[in-house]
Amino acid sequence: MEQLFKLYQTNSISGSEVEIRSVIKEMLADVELDIRVDFIGNMFITKGKADTYPCVAAHMDEIHNPCQRNIIEAGGVVIAVDGNGRQVGTGADDKNGVWVAIKLLHEMPVLKAVFFVEEEKKGDLSGCRGAHAANLDFFTDCRYILECDRKGASDWIVQGKDVPLCEPTFIPQSILDKYRYLPVNGGKTDVVELKMRGLAIPVCNISCGYYNAHHENEYTVWSELVNCLNFVREIIVSNI
Ligand SMILES: [Zn+2]
Repeated sequence: MEQLFKLYQTNSISGSEVEIRSVIKEMLADVELDIRVDFIGNMFITKGKADTYPCVAAHMDEIHNPCQRNIIEAGGVVIAVDGNGRQVGTGADDKNGVWVAIKLLHEMPVLKAVFFVEEEKKGDLSGCRGAHAANLDFFTDCRYILECDRKGASDWIVQGKDVPLCEPTFIPQSILDKYRYLPVNGGKTDVVELKMRGLAIPVCNISCGYYNAHHENEYTVWSELVNCLNFVREIIVSNI
């Protein structure tokens, strides 16, 4: 939980991802990785050597204005308060996805991961600006991309913004049942943008235990985030 707290404490409003990028690099300093950062600030990470890779994704930015955050866990629920004890957003959207990817980069011998900048809408700017700028060549040897950037505990997004993301049979029913995930339609995030740009491989977006995203009362149910990690790990080791 310590690493999750550190991610929540790190301010990363869209367009200001320098600090969270260095926090992520620190958390991965003990793993042998190839890490590349593109011109806009997206991080592309490769672990191990293989003909094809599973790939996980998350976005580093958040909607909340910078402030000092103290992170509190009570009864398995994680929130943030500012220096005056007032509840503020945690940035769990999408630090929860970042946390899952960091855990898996430690555990898996072979994995690719992408951390996008500027997923959130900002002023008149549309969202998913990092994914819009990303070089799709990185995904040429990926079999699929699993992004963890969905509220709640049980959504497996197979269609986003009218864009088909993957076949409903892409994840075996036995794994969906074990971790209590159901196929549903959802909104836009980075992997949807990649599909809109013509990426051919299956992608999906997965619930990672956050609630009230974009609001001051944002919170995470720790057990649901851990269930998400276990779900994603099992998809990867099942060798789809
Ligand atoms: Zn998000």
